[in-house]
Amino acid sequence: MLKIYNTAKRALEDFKPINKTVKIYTCGPTVYGYQHIGNYASYIYWDLLIRTLIMDGYKVKRVLNFTDVGHLTSDADSGEDKLEKGAAREGKDVYEIAKFYGDDFMRNFKALNLIEPEIIAHATDYVKDDIKAVDKMTDGGFTYETSDGIYFDTSKFDHYADFAKLDLSGLQAGARVGFSDEKRQVSDFAVWKFIKPGEKHAMRWDYLGRPGYPGWHLECSTIIEKELGGPIDIHTGGIDHIPVHHTNEIAQTYAMTGRELAKYWLHCNFITIDGEKISKSLGNIYTLDDLAKRGFSPMDFKMWVLSGHYQGTRNFTFESLAGAKERRLSWRNRIAECYQNTNSLNNKDASFGQILDAVNDNLNSPKAFALIDTLNLNLKDWQNIDKLFGLNLIEDSPNLNDVANKTILEREIARQAKDYEKADQIRDELANQGITIKDTATGPIWQYSK
Ligand code: AMP
Ligand code: ZN
Repeated sequence: MLKIYNTAKRALEDFKPINKTVKIYTCGPTVYGYQHIGNYASYIYWDLLIRTLIMDGYKVKRVLNFTDVGHLTSDADSGEDKLEKGAAREGKDVYEIAKFYGDDFMRNFKALNLIEPEIIAHATDYVKDDIKAVDKMTDGGFTYETSDGIYFDTSKFDHYADFAKLDLSGLQAGARVGFSDEKRQVSDFAVWKFIKPGEKHAMRWDYLGRPGYPGWHLECSTIIEKELGGPIDIHTGGIDHIPVHHTNEIAQTYAMTGRELAKYWLHCNFITIDGEKISKSLGNIYTLDDLAKRGFSPMDFKMWVLSGHYQGTRNFTFESLAGAKERRLSWRNRIAECYQNTNSLNNKDASFGQILDAVNDNLNSPKAFALIDTLNLNLKDWQNIDKLFGLNLIEDSPNLNDVANKTILEREIARQAKDYEKADQIRDELANQGITIKDTATGPIWQYSK
C-alpha cells in the first residue's frame, strides 16, 4: 500500500484512490527555453510515482500541461509574457517558440524513459474554457476588474491561506512601499489580462470587447476540469508552486465548482548545483545535452536523481553524478552475472517485494537503492527493478547473453589455436557493442562497459 506525504494535510497518508482509475495532474514546462536538469529532476520523481502506482496494480490517467501563454517573467502579474520574450530573443513567432521547446522537452522526456502522460495539454488550446471559467467566477462574485485585467479577489475564498499556511496580514503589511496598483489584496491575482493599445502581445483573444490573454494559474484549473473532471486524486509540482500557483489553482477551482481540486498534493524539493540555486545569472544552468557532452547519459542522471528523496534538498555535483554512473554500471554487471549464472534464473526467493515496499513508503527511492546494493537479486527481480525505476538496466536484446557467450567461445577457440589477432578482433567487436570480456580464474565472463 502506497503512503505519500500530502502537502494539503502536512502529513503522511495512505493512498486511497477516488475511483478505479487514478487521476493525476502534473504542472508542466513553460515552453519558452530549454528545461534544465532541475526541471527534469521533478519529472523523474513523478515518473516514479506513476510507475509505483502501476506496480501496485492501479490504472493511471495523467495530464501534463505545456504553458505556452500567460506565464509572466515575474511569476506574478507583472513583467513580460515568457513566450513573447522567447520569441523576441530568437526572432521567431511565439507558436514556433512553443513548438521548438515543447519538442525538445519531449525528446528529453523520452531519453529519460519517462512514461508519457495520456494527455499533453497546451494552454492555448483551452482559452475558450478559460473564458467560461472567468465568467463563472465573476458570476459567483469572486473577481473584480482593474485597468489591466480581471483579478481574483482572494478575500472571497475563506480558505485561501490554508494550503500554504500563508500569513496574509503579514503579506499585506510587507507589500511594496508605493504598492499602488488597483489590486485589493496583495495576494489577488490576474485570471485574465488585457492587452493595452500598442502593447506587443502576439497571442490574443477577444473577451469583453477587447484583446487579452489568460492569467498563468487559470490553465491548470481549466484543463483539470475539462480533461480529468475533478476532484482528481493527485496533483504534483515543485515546492515553488505551493504559496502562489497551487494556492491560486485551489481558489479558482473552488470558485468555479464549489469543491476541492485534488485529494493529494505532492511537491518535490529543488535541486541546487554546487550549493547554488540554478539560475541564469550564476551561469549554472545545465541541460541534459550539457551532461552528455561530459560523458553522462540521461540514465546516469536519472540514477543520480533517484538516489535521493523527492522531498530532500539535493545538491548536484559532477562528482556525485560520476558516482551514480558507476553504481548503475555495477548493477548492470550484476545483471550480466545473473545471465551467466543459470541458478539465478531458478532462484525462487525473489527480493523485489522489499524494494517495492521501500518505494511505497513515500517514494523512498534512496532506501530502495540501498536495498538493491545489498540484496541477493535474481533476473526476475532485476526485470521488476527496471519496470519500477525505468533505468534501462537490461538491454532490449533478449538474446544478448547467447550472443556474448557464443562470441566468447569463438574467442577461446581462436586463442587456443594461438590466433591472437582473431581473438583480439572478436574482443574489439564485442567492445563496440558495449561489452567487455574479462578473463577470470574460472574462465572468461562478459560485463557491460557502460
Ligand atoms: P517551469 O518550466 O519553470 O514552469 O518549471 C517546470 C517544473 O520544474 C516545475 O514543476 C518546477 O517546480 C520544477 N523546477 C524548477 N526548478 C527546479 C529545481 N531547481 N529543482 C527541481 N525542480 C525544479
Ligand atoms: Zn499548475
